[in-house]
Amino acid sequence: MIVAERKSIPEMMEILAGHKNVLVLGCGTCVTVCLAGGEREVGIVASALRMAARLRGVDLNIEEQTIERQCDNVFIEKAADAIGRNDAVLSLGCGAGVQAIAERYANKAVYAGLDTQFIGILEERGVWTEKCSACGACVLADYGGICPITRCAKRLLNGPCGGSTELRCEARADCQCAWQLIYNRLKAIGQLDRLNRIVAPKNWSAHRDGGCRTIIREDHRI
Ligand code: SF4
Ligand code: SF4
Repeated sequence: MIVAERKSIPEMMEILAGHKNVLVLGCGTCVTVCLAGGEREVGIVASALRMAARLRGVDLNIEEQTIERQCDNVFIEKAADAIGRNDAVLSLGCGAGVQAIAERYANKAVYAGLDTQFIGILEERGVWTEKCSACGACVLADYGGICPITRCAKRLLNGPCGGSTELRCEARADCQCAWQLIYNRLKAIGQLDRLNRIVAPKNWSAHRDGGCRTIIREDHRI
């Protein structure tokens, strides 16, 4: 899922300066799961903004709504009335959601209320970790399902750097050495022989550097 964090209330107040009627719009998918932008968070942010406005003597009306997905026009449609009633939208969706709304409502101010962080998973209660950098050419099959691009600090594809200490990465002492994990995993599934191959340099042309990427499925186009 996409993992995000809420911006601070003072930051949001600064972003919203000059607006009188604002819709705080939540997203019911990834950012709900990571406790950053779902219905509950919309309620918390809306109350905090009202309180901050009152304390500063600012005239600010806040409306709340949460839709199932902000990155999909079918669901954005459900917020059309509320978007129309307000002069700005503070989106608690990920960066894709914010931009989907901004593209659809070209004359409406749309702001990000979250800082979108990464693609990751809930590791344990209250802890999310990055697992995928969306490199565009997945190599997980070669590494026992553990991503060296995202989880090895040096993005090594042909074995460890040799700097780990007690299974910890030398560059990130708070992380386990990804290559130790890869070795353990390949051993567990009987695929250690995969490590005998020399892996050619990765094709980085599919990575995001150099502009935004697009997927076109001709079989789905009309
Ligand atoms: S190899 Fe690329 S696509 Fe696969 S998990 Fe790692 S970053 Fe993501
Ligand atoms: S210690 Fe392990 S995870 Fe860290 S950079 Fe070296 S090989 Fe990669």
